Amino acid sequence: MASKQEMREEAERLVREALERKSVTIKHGATRIEATCGKCGAKNRVSAEKGETRVRYKCKECGHEQVTL
Ligand SMILES: [Zn+2]
Repeated sequence: MASKQEMREEAERLVREALERKSVTIKHGATRIEATCGKCGAKNRVSAEKGETRVRYKCKECGHEQVTL
C-alpha cells in the first residue's frame, strides 16, 4: 500500500511529466513516433524532435520506461 507521502510524490511526478510532454508537443518541428511497448505491446504516441529517433518514453498502459527504436 502506498503511503500518503508516496501518493503525493506520484501525483507531483505525473503533473511534471504532463508539463514536459506539453512543452515538447508544441515545439516547432516535433514529430510523432508510433512506438510499440516492448513489454505489453501497447501503441504509444511519442513526440520527437525532427531527426531524432531515440526518444525516452513511458508506456501509457504499463508504465514501462524505454527508448523508441
Ligand atoms: Zn507497456
